[in-house]
Amino acid sequence: MTLTVGIVGLPNVGKSTLFNAVSAARAEAANYPFATIEPNVGIVGVPDDRLAVLARLVSAERSVPATVEFHDIAGLVKGASVGEGLGNQFLSHIREVDAIVHVVRCFEDADVVHVEGTVDPARDIEITETELLLKDLETVERATEKATRAAKSGGAEARQRAATLTALRDELRTGTAARAVTASDAHAAAVSRELGLLTAKPVLYAGNVAEDELPEPESEAVRTLRQAAARRDAEAVIICAEVEAQIAELDPADRATFLADLGLDASGLDRLVTVAYRLLGLLTFFTAGPEEARAWTVRTGARAPEAAGVIHSDLQRGFIRAEVISY
Ligand code: GDP
Repeated sequence: MTLTVGIVGLPNVGKSTLFNAVSAARAEAANYPFATIEPNVGIVGVPDDRLAVLARLVSAERSVPATVEFHDIAGLVKGASVGEGLGNQFLSHIREVDAIVHVVRCFEDADVVHVEGTVDPARDIEITETELLLKDLETVERATEKATRAAKSGGAEARQRAATLTALRDELRTGTAARAVTASDAHAAAVSRELGLLTAKPVLYAGNVAEDELPEPESEAVRTLRQAAARRDAEAVIICAEVEAQIAELDPADRATFLADLGLDASGLDRLVTVAYRLLGLLTFFTAGPEEARAWTVRTGARAPEAAGVIHSDLQRGFIRAEVISY
């Protein structure tokens, strides 16, 4: 089970800088049996203190963390939904990820051009969201027309589908993201999964601040971002992408000291990964033996046999027992 998140945001907000930190982190999780990875994909281990404790307990040779895949999705500009910039290509990349990390510029720097002229997180979020909404609206309008035609000659199921799509379309038209509808409507959730709606994906905001604002950024921009996130029932994680890139360059042994000097107890990347993991309703379970201690991912609420199936389908079929160990 690979959890994938897409990094999106307007140009010059710090996406590449953050992604470079992700790519460097990936080199370290070298134990992980990576399949071929594309240049715009980075893999980060999910921080979990329990794994190290477990590895020590069983004297495992190595430990393998659970991972999150980050996809660098460049090219969002105003008008992307009608083909500006990388347009549709960019939007189809978002369709493939499980969740969105939306990087929002909170740092002032006269040397780094802001495409909209000023630092304004609320407006930037709106621009990005509008592009995703317009794309979804296009998708849903097409599906609604088709479903409405099918409902005329179809049965109850076809009518239900047409009604669900019509209601969803009307919500999108008023500027409501699909996730606000799917949360309380199982039919709408199924339809939006099937259509791969962009605004149905869980979103997490990453406010990118200047280094000198750490450890506790409290600028007007940060406040605005937090309010905009709260209005959407979403979380905001405040990071400094440039500091993340510096951390990634450091020897792992030196990181804690570097973070402590900045007054931080975890890197921004670690905080992002942790929140993304929670956002997706995932939890970790472990296997351990002399060869390796390993963290695996399963959705919250899954039963032990399903977890066994994440390791190997044979284990699920011939499931015997799981052992619960208190920590
Ligand atoms: P992208 O277009 O969103 O990928 O943005 P980049 O990562 O390329 O960053 C654009 C510019 O902003 C680069 O010159 C970065 O060095 C700069 N930048 C990124 N993060 C920060 C930050 O936290 N503080 C400052 N002052 N500049 C940053």
